Amino acid sequence: MRIRRLAIANRGEVAVRIMRACQELGIETVLLHSEADVSTRAYRMADKRICIGPAPTAESYLNIEANVRGALAGGAEAIHPGFGFLSENADFAEAVEKAGMKFVGPPPSATRQLGDKVRCKQLAQKIGLPLVPGYQGEDQNIDTLIKAAEEIGYPVIVKAAAGGGGRGMKVLKSSDEARELIESAQREGQSAFGSPKVFLEKYLDRAKHIEFQIFGDATGRVMHLFDRECSVQRRHQKIIEEAISPSITPDLRRQMGEAACAIAEAAGYRGAGTVEFLVQDGKFYLLEVNTRLQVEHPVTEMVMNVDLVKAQILTAEGQAVFSNYDLKVPKGHAIECRIYAEDPYLGGVPSTGLLGTVSWPEGPGRRFEYGFEAGDEITPFYDPMIAKVIVWDETRPRAIQKMKRVLADSIVFGVRTNIPYLMEILSHPEFVQGEMTTRFIERHFANPLRAVSMDDWEKKACEKILRATPRSMSVSASSVGEASHANPFGHAWKGGST
Ligand code: ADP
Repeated sequence: MRIRRLAIANRGEVAVRIMRACQELGIETVLLHSEADVSTRAYRMADKRICIGPAPTAESYLNIEANVRGALAGGAEAIHPGFGFLSENADFAEAVEKAGMKFVGPPPSATRQLGDKVRCKQLAQKIGLPLVPGYQGEDQNIDTLIKAAEEIGYPVIVKAAAGGGGRGMKVLKSSDEARELIESAQREGQSAFGSPKVFLEKYLDRAKHIEFQIFGDATGRVMHLFDRECSVQRRHQKIIEEAISPSITPDLRRQMGEAACAIAEAAGYRGAGTVEFLVQDGKFYLLEVNTRLQVEHPVTEMVMNVDLVKAQILTAEGQAVFSNYDLKVPKGHAIECRIYAEDPYLGGVPSTGLLGTVSWPEGPGRRFEYGFEAGDEITPFYDPMIAKVIVWDETRPRAIQKMKRVLADSIVFGVRTNIPYLMEILSHPEFVQGEMTTRFIERHFANPLRAVSMDDWEKKACEKILRATPRSMSVSASSVGEASHANPFGHAWKGGST
């Protein structure tokens, strides 16, 4: 059945991304937004907008009933949940279907089976996939957990069973800190995810994070669209992602791809999903399955020449997607950098405020996914990721070179961003060699960047930009660079010299 109108239960750049796919498919969009998200690109682009509640996520983006009611009021026939928020919530998918709409995502049964980290591991074990040694028992007594940690052998990682987004995880280096850190993970699990349940794994201290994009089509066939390397992480959260990984052999790639499809098939998966692995010493271990579109999906789209969001929507309509031929070979290399509104000189503290001039340097093999434009406000209520920059080139070295140039030419005024930090990472020899592990940031970028003052080059660049800025936005060149909150152009990034 064709979807004529689709509601988007999300915000920011992913809401824009979904709208683009809808526009091209001739589908009208209804944006389900909070009161705080009126001054955003997605709000301006939507065909219809329904306010579902105030800024706090529990009262809007995480409120199942408000989203379902909003979508029905907007006359939507389907809901796309994007990523984060309710995207991996099987109750939400069920509520959407019960209300007579289609949920653009996997069946609730598959989400329950794979989205729960402990159940996912049980399924993996059953079908013989390699797991990191650990403890996933029901007995959550602190002494049992400490004993299990001793048996696994330090270092051990404790994780909130209901956790996600890198939160609720602690690395235990020795028995001295086991009790305190396990209890703290339990508390964090309870407050952030509503459950104190934790599990333990051996901490692999020189692993790479490599994941496979999988896709279950409407016929029940599950295929994979190759891999992404996401080892550049800060506090277990990805910052830079690439497709395909520069560091696995064709044989390992084949085995991991088969494992990824096997677990998705066993759970009756449909739509886009990601099977995450850790790879250490030439061996791979299943980490978890994300039952949704991933933030880093564009790098797969660039090397595979596909549109995953369209494929999700077409699959929800029961239509066929991807021919076998499409999925044979990845082409070239793609890199994504996540742009965060944060201060790289103050250890990444969030930076909020009104956006001044924003300019992304268009060009071949460059893609910009962003949810905010000049005049929009970056509020403290949500994730600080404001944009993604994605590049494609024929080889990895050329893609790195392109990304550096693109970031250097990107302009974001009004808030500070992590662009200077990304530039440093892209130039680090370990990154350039493709040898980085998940501890790369901790090892090489533990300290805030050293602040730079505006030099002549920067001043000239600012003047150039201001000349190209519409009159209504322009300010005098001398005010650029002043760190004043009253001045929306106060914080500036221009790359190149740092
Ligand atoms: P989340 O669901 O919060 O993203 P994951 O289980 O996917 O949590 O893990 C996120 C990141 O944490 C991984 O990419 C990796 O860097 C680190 N990590 C998780 N488990 C382990 C482990 N057993 N050993 C080493 N690092 C780990």
